[in-house]
Amino acid sequence: MRLASLAVLALSLPVPAAAAIQSPSEFLGFTVGADRTLADYRQIKAYFQALDAASPRVVMQDLGKTTLGEDMVMAVISSEANIANLPRLKEVARRLADPRGLPDSEAETLVGEGKVVLLVTCNIHSTEIGASQMAMEWAHALATAQDAETRRRLDQVVLLLVPSLNPDGQIMETEWYRKQLGTRYEGSRMPWLYHHYVGHDNNRDWFMLTQKETRAMTRAVYHEWFPQVWLDEHQMGATGPRIFVPPYAEPVDTDIHPLVWREVNLIGSLMAFRLEQARKAGVIYGFSYDAYWPGGTKNTAWWKNVSGLLTEVASVRIATPVRIAPGELSGGRKGLVEYEAQTNFPNPWPGGLWRLRDIMDYERIASDALLEMCADRREDFLRNALVRARTAAATFGPRDAYRIPARQRDAASALRLAALMVEHGVEVKQSADGDAWIPLAQPYGRFVQEMFDRQDYPEVKLVAGRDIVRPYDVSAWSLPLMTGVEVERAALPSTLAPFSPPAPRLEASGAAVALPPGGPDNATLVNAALRSGGRVAIARSPLPGTDREWPAGTIFMDTAAARAAAGKGAPGQGWTAVEEIPSAAEKMTAPRVGLYKPWAASMDEGWTRFVLEQYGFEPRTLDNKTVRAGALAAAFDVIVLPDVAKEVIASGKPRREDGEMRYFAELPPEYAGGLDKEGAAALRQFVEAGGTLVAFSGACDYVLEELNLPVRNALARVKPDEFAAPGSLLRVEVDPANPLAYGLPSSVAVFQDKAIAFDTVLPGAEMERWVIATYPAAQRDILLSGWVNGADRLEKRAAAVATTFGKGKVVLLGFRPQHRAQTPATFPFVFNALYWSTAKR
Ligand SMILES: [Zn+2]
Repeated sequence: MRLASLAVLALSLPVPAAAAIQSPSEFLGFTVGADRTLADYRQIKAYFQALDAASPRVVMQDLGKTTLGEDMVMAVISSEANIANLPRLKEVARRLADPRGLPDSEAETLVGEGKVVLLVTCNIHSTEIGASQMAMEWAHALATAQDAETRRRLDQVVLLLVPSLNPDGQIMETEWYRKQLGTRYEGSRMPWLYHHYVGHDNNRDWFMLTQKETRAMTRAVYHEWFPQVWLDEHQMGATGPRIFVPPYAEPVDTDIHPLVWREVNLIGSLMAFRLEQARKAGVIYGFSYDAYWPGGTKNTAWWKNVSGLLTEVASVRIATPVRIAPGELSGGRKGLVEYEAQTNFPNPWPGGLWRLRDIMDYERIASDALLEMCADRREDFLRNALVRARTAAATFGPRDAYRIPARQRDAASALRLAALMVEHGVEVKQSADGDAWIPLAQPYGRFVQEMFDRQDYPEVKLVAGRDIVRPYDVSAWSLPLMTGVEVERAALPSTLAPFSPPAPRLEASGAAVALPPGGPDNATLVNAALRSGGRVAIARSPLPGTDREWPAGTIFMDTAAARAAAGKGAPGQGWTAVEEIPSAAEKMTAPRVGLYKPWAASMDEGWTRFVLEQYGFEPRTLDNKTVRAGALAAAFDVIVLPDVAKEVIASGKPRREDGEMRYFAELPPEYAGGLDKEGAAALRQFVEAGGTLVAFSGACDYVLEELNLPVRNALARVKPDEFAAPGSLLRVEVDPANPLAYGLPSSVAVFQDKAIAFDTVLPGAEMERWVIATYPAAQRDILLSGWVNGADRLEKRAAAVATTFGKGKVVLLGFRPQHRAQTPATFPFVFNALYWSTAKR
């Protein structure tokens, strides 16, 4: 049913007989959940649309378009009466989520009136496909059931069911699977990312909101529906437990309201209980997945007072059954070291055949238990949501706030950061001088604090005297450091207006403008100006002006080009009218960028492509075959190697330690292998002929192995207990006069997640080398946010180095300069390197 016509339809249409509503298998003409059988996303959407048309308990909502243009849909499922009353139920949920100014008596009335808004998202990871199939069966059962218990549940709960959080990838995977069906590659891994840009990292985007799908769901959750409970259904490896349900593993973030964990644990326990009753073995809790890291769907929601749950079911080979020998079952992760019965895992699965149907059955039982608990505890859950929101707002005083000054080194990034908070549903204000203000005494105040503070990773030990529990994902997400934006705690002024960012504007009176070296948005302006055909030039050394000196890195463009560029967004400041472009400034041309893409799909390749496109570069993808074919200098000025392990670049296969299993599943021949010898030779010729090679993080090891450079990775052989930086923000010192550091402050936070830091030596006369970024001399000055072990090994070592090589150049960035598009503070390292490729030496 369409939302707009709900009330009318609910009154005028007779309730259709259950028999008139087809099951997914009847509708699609094949047995959903059968071995080697998958419904693709378009079929799933069609089925939900049919349910919408046939059932007064189901309405479809469009969430928006995906990256590749599919419709993202969500089914709203509830009793007929609730469906007819959705606008009011949404309003109740919104008031409970933000109860500022709500009198207690009225709040209690809302708790009595409201329904639990329960969000269930499926299949964000496209290979974890079972839930997208299960969702159709679950929706059918809820739409057709006539029993009193189901009707009771639907009366207490409004279920928001998203059959796939990544429709593009669901379609890619089903197409790939069907193509390989019956061949020796059946069920194999797809050789490209299942999200056009970010692959598996689509579940690590939930605080930065860079992707369309993340933003669409965020809008529905924090601007429209305000669910109290959110379950995200995943799958994990095939050879461990059969299903993970909460409680989560250590560590826990203690800023999150404990009622979140109590609700999550209550629901998880009922899931485990119902699964056990149904004789489903292998249920585990307190395993692997922590309650601390905020990057995933329902994780970010914890700081916004939502009870976010995760289930992870053991996988098959997409839809092809697997048979697991008992000896192949293993624990080996936090919460289950040996695969044996223990308190959180009392009934280990013994091994045997495991199929798509098993995944769907486990998921369905867990989903039904969730619905049952939400119905049983409706009033509790609504009251708890209210309590959590009130407690969060009361954590801070009425004048506690963050101020984001409008006038700062990188004003464009400052505006973006404020706009990101608005997108998160945070209340952002603005003072008359243009500064953004974020009052902390609001329901999402703790979320803002989590995002703006530095992280101090809790060193939890499970056994006294032993190692700490290592981070599940990264250990730092301090947005001011990552975006290079100056943010301060300050007392909230009394007169404020709603935040409204200024429109991009350019007041230019001369024939040209000067743009001082600055943040990443300068690249957007330069690329747009170059594309408009205008003249753009850069000061490669300080240049005298009429009333000032222009620092190295200042960009000049003619006014027409600047006007074309200003229309592309990037509202900034610091444009200065000049009479003409100084003759000593060097003409800039758009670099022709090649971006290496291995067939072992690389998320960092995808993120790099995304970031470059966002800022107006036009990277061309270089696969192994194209690199091996050589003649690269004719087509490219610069080639970027994203953060890919040297073994994968060289051979297409991951590294194996001594004694590890050597087996690597076969790939179709066109996707097998790496650069091999010919590719390495082609890259060397490219650089010798004048090209620029830029390597990020792990790819630096590949370059150091292939080219004779006066640089080595000093941490190449350290053991994990000697050095670890599991996604941490570390301070480096840079020289902003270096062409690779234009626009950077003299000290900047780099994102580090590998054991990499450079020793350099003085080269011979055949080459020049520049140390662009260096770790501080004292280890106490190195860690800015997160966790690091062995920081002394970084002292005085180089984080970024450039050299000449033949007629060309090599740039080694020994950190993650564009990590998940979350580190704009260090994007200039990358953009500068690309522009340097077309510079005169
Ligand atoms: Zn997953």
